[in-house]
Amino acid sequence: MGKHQIDQEGFYGEFGGAYIPEMLYPNVEELRENYLKIIQEESFQAEFQRLLHTYVGRPTPLYLATRLSKKYNTTIYLKREDLNHTGAHKVNNTLGQILLARRLGKTRIIAETGAGQHGVATATMCALMGMQCVVYMGEVDIHRQKPNVERMKLLGAEVRPALSGSRTLKDATNEAIRDWINNPVDTYYIIGSVVGPHPYPDMVARFQSVISEEIKKQLKTETGSENPDYLIACVGGGSNAAGTFYHYLDNEDVKLIAVEAAGLGVDSGKTAATTQVGTRGIIHGSKTILMQTRDGQIVEPHSISAGLDYPGIGPIHAYLFDSGRGLYHSATDEQAYLAGVQLSRLEGIIPALESSHALAALDLLKFRADDVIVVTLSGRGDKDLQTYIERGGY
Ligand SMILES: *Cc1c(COP(=O)(O)O)cnc(C)c1O
Repeated sequence: MGKHQIDQEGFYGEFGGAYIPEMLYPNVEELRENYLKIIQEESFQAEFQRLLHTYVGRPTPLYLATRLSKKYNTTIYLKREDLNHTGAHKVNNTLGQILLARRLGKTRIIAETGAGQHGVATATMCALMGMQCVVYMGEVDIHRQKPNVERMKLLGAEVRPALSGSRTLKDATNEAIRDWINNPVDTYYIIGSVVGPHPYPDMVARFQSVISEEIKKQLKTETGSENPDYLIACVGGGSNAAGTFYHYLDNEDVKLIAVEAAGLGVDSGKTAATTQVGTRGIIHGSKTILMQTRDGQIVEPHSISAGLDYPGIGPIHAYLFDSGRGLYHSATDEQAYLAGVQLSRLEGIIPALESSHALAALDLLKFRADDVIVVTLSGRGDKDLQTYIERGGY
């Protein structure tokens, strides 16, 4: 096990662990005891790999973006997670977790969702597997994200509104946890990023690590070396970035660039740049860095992109930031929007606004002509069309 991997107790350095209420302990313990054994089984891997191939559409291409490369006078590849079924990387993880849930004998799936992307990925997998699906969503988000709510319903999921607090993501999370405590035997809780109590962050990183596994092979074919100079990915909770970095963590020649959402600016009070404004604390059962007031109340984040609008980061990112192994940058709403329009014009690819933050980092770094850069395009921009339109000016 490498220097930057999780330890036996579920920590990356000082970050991670499982800080959970006692009533949740049996559920999390069942998972912790079984997850590695199950996902390393040959039959599990065979089914996971087959569905990644025939259902999700993997491997996703590693595309040499020639016009973008010319603009920055270097060599830039895009890892096309936007071409996955359902339009983003999230499906890699939901597929893995639902196969695990089935092997644990679970028949009912619950999830929480903010913008609805993780809810849709979960509802999709439940339809595929013929499992009952309940998705908790803040009442405010249900009104903001109508199309995704309708998608989930069309796929056969029940969307339950969270009516307490600010009626957004954290309230939906509380409802999902309450449900899981009440239904420990038949129910499995699918978490959508490298967050939550151990073993979720490690499990989700492993399912998403297919991204870097493929990059290594594809880059070797393309350039003769499996190592780029830079890997760049956006960070909400941090799952597409964790998957992009995973097989390169111990190769210190490869620079790992993570890009958070600065929102209206890091010092504006309307931001989601957790490493810039956050402090150590516990959120969703793990010790990490999060945005909080001095007395520990969570600060509402802001980003143009719903997927980055999260007040924490996964413990692996707190560790990579703190240790200096990862370099953490941020891009504002405006910078991300402009990078999204630029990619549309230069390459004929309309990126998700989350992914546009990763692209915006191209303006923040200085490259050499012989550098090789891989940017993970975590999702496609169809879902963001309304936001692109409202911003206008393109
Ligand atoms: C959800 C989402 C993200 C953010 O999630 P991570 O766990 O940080 O990867 C990024 N891009 C897209 C397209 C998403 O849907």
